[in-house]
Amino acid sequence: MKYAMCPKCGRRLCKGENGTKVEMECPKCGEFASVIIDEDDIHISKKPIFTNTPDSVLKQKQHA
Ligand SMILES: [Zn+2]
Repeated sequence: MKYAMCPKCGRRLCKGENGTKVEMECPKCGEFASVIIDEDDIHISKKPIFTNTPDSVLKQKQHA
């Protein structure tokens, strides 16, 4: 079992077993975090895990 910490404020976000993939927002500071728990490592990123959004949609969002 491993713990994921908020990349911004360091609050403990969640814990999970190997293979866990989750996207969430920090309940303390609201920072978005994607968490991937591997066998020997834990990856925390501000970018979404599930990048099924086409680039064209992202560009539209930026202009909105
Ligand atoms: Zn936070």
